[in-house]
Amino acid sequence: MEKSRKEEIQSYFRELDRSFFMDIHKEAAHLDEAVPIGYEQTISQPSLVLEMTLALDLQKDSSVLEIGTGSGFQTALLAEFSKTVYTVERIKELHTRAKERLQKAGFQNIHFKLDDGSMGWKEKAPFDRIMVTAAVSELPKELVDQLGPGGKMVIPIGSTLVQKLKLIEKNDKGKLTTTTLNYVRFVPLIGKYE
Ligand code: SAM
Repeated sequence: MEKSRKEEIQSYFRELDRSFFMDIHKEAAHLDEAVPIGYEQTISQPSLVLEMTLALDLQKDSSVLEIGTGSGFQTALLAEFSKTVYTVERIKELHTRAKERLQKAGFQNIHFKLDDGSMGWKEKAPFDRIMVTAAVSELPKELVDQLGPGGKMVIPIGSTLVQKLKLIEKNDKGKLTTTTLNYVRFVPLIGKYE
């Protein structure tokens, strides 16, 4: 029997070696916890990475914007199950290491940018899917504008201590629907929406 898309993502995720995305604390790779990757940043908790990816409802032809490349762990999952990924990271060392790793892993559908991702990536918009992996205090207007009709965005919104993980859906007429998926704690998205 053919696997459903959800099962395909789950089984790829189970095989993904998290330690490959870590330069430090590799001994903690198997824990279902966020782990420091240096520069006061973390590689996200595996169960949350999977939950956020499934919520995004990736399609084979999706153009995806990711804000906060970090280690590239989430990026790999997005790239495996969509057409093209545009990923933005503000810390040069993380951006460079993630790019090296994902190129070494053979991904050819990822575009990397070193920049403040709170403004999105206007030149490449509209996006079918947007994944934000750092916390914002309010929904960034720039990202909403760059989400195409029928698009979906997963984003943690709230205070620095706790955020609601939100799924934002834009219908064909541009109307937004918001669903709260979970309560989470992410590092802040540095910039206008901190
Ligand atoms: N999903 C990533 C992983 O598993 O490795 C983790 C991402 S980490 C929780 C959040 C990332 O967002 C950090 O690498 C941080 O430097 C980045 N970040 C924070 N503010 C940013 C901004 N304004 N633009 C781009 N990246 C930003």
